[in-house]
Parts: sequence; C-alpha cells; structure tokens
Amino acid sequence: MKDIRNIVILSGAGISAESGIDTFRSEGGLWERHRVEDVATPEAFARDPDLVLRFYDMRRAAIQTKEPNAAHLALARLDAEWPGELLIVTQNVDNLHERAGAERVLHMHGEHLLAWCTACDTRSPWTGTLIERPPCPVCGERALRPDVVWFGEMPYRMDEIYAALREADLFVSIGTSGAVYPAAGFVRNAREMGAHTLELNLEPSKGTRWFEEARHGPATQIVPAWVDEVLSAAS
Ligand SMILES: [Zn+2]
Repeated sequence: MKDIRNIVILSGAGISAESGIDTFRSEGGLWERHRVEDVATPEAFARDPDLVLRFYDMRRAAIQTKEPNAAHLALARLDAEWPGELLIVTQNVDNLHERAGAERVLHMHGEHLLAWCTACDTRSPWTGTLIERPPCPVCGERALRPDVVWFGEMPYRMDEIYAALREADLFVSIGTSGAVYPAAGFVRNAREMGAHTLELNLEPSKGTRWFEEARHGPATQIVPAWVDEVLSAAS
C-alpha cells in the first residue's frame, strides 16, 4: 500500500441498497412498477411529463427519509483521513455520501436534490416537488426538470473522471453491476494506466474478471473493513 497515493472510487446502487434505496436493476427490470423507458428517458419526459415528474417527486421525497449506512460512513472517513488524492465517482443520485460527510464526490448521473432549468441552464437545490411546474429561482421560467441523467443522455463530467482515472494508483468499484457503460469500462481505463483494481460487491459483478482483486459481501461489512486496512497501511 505504500506506493498508493491516488485513489479513485466508483460507487453504485449496491452501496445505497442497504440504506433502503432500491434500484432499476433488480429482477424484472421494473422500478416501483414502472418500466425504465416509461420514466427515465428524454422521450418519456416529452411524451408524459406528469408521469415522469410525479415519479421523480416520489423518489426525491423517499431518499430524504433514508440514512447513510456504515459503507457511506467508512468512505467519508477515508475521504477525511486519506493524505493523497481521492475522488468518489458515484452513479447514485441520492446524497448519502455527502450526508455521511464525504466531500470529494462527483455525481456522474446527477442528483435528486437538484432541479435543472432547461431555460437558463442553471441547477438549483431542490427538496420539494416539480409536478406543479414551479418557476426557476434564477430566471422565473417554468422549465425545471429533475437533474438526473436519463438513459440516452450523456453522463456528467466525463473529462474529469477520465483525468482522475489516468492518475489513479488504485481504482475501487463498490456496489456496481458492471453492466452500465461508460462506468463499466472504468476498470479497464484505470488498469491500462497502471492502477491496481479492486472490486467490492455483494456478488461477482458482470465485470468482475477485469479486476485484479475482488471481495464479495454486504457493502456495510466489506467497505469498512477495506477502509480500515487502507488507512492503517498508510499510517
Ligand atoms: Zn432558469
């Protein structure tokens, strides 16, 4: 561990599942009884904005009732105590990393608690509902949508993510299915640049063979154990 200075962590739905936040990719492909293509695509929003806004209003309300778990808390401790570079790239749109205290967090799929104004292209903190078409706090237009990257849209801040992967000494994927690109390809990007690669997941992911090392079990157990190891090796 002595030669590791720069850590990039990719976190996915598996880390929030133990806080009670369910995901798309559970069996059947249904999410709260909706098909993905009915609620999480730009086409769905164009076709039936009320359905999509109501769905995200429900999700936004639900995540605010959830609490960070031991895995989020362990990563926040790593963020606070790690002496080198660190970036938590999350696919999650909840704010549980931040509520656990992590600061170096990048939301590649956006955030439930932001509203994006498509008229003036600003993001505003948002905890309430959007179904009633409230005005944008910046420009006053009624053009707010959830600031969540839908299927068919480009993930955010990819240049920053690839730059971090190029510099990484250690790449750790936590609670991701390994099925959704581009995130599923990060392990190969990191490896090509010489990073050590580690998977922490409930079970072997679809991409598990790309990792040099893998540990399987509940995130609330294996993530704190790994963080303890990394911090004690660094001290
Ligand atoms: Zn606006």
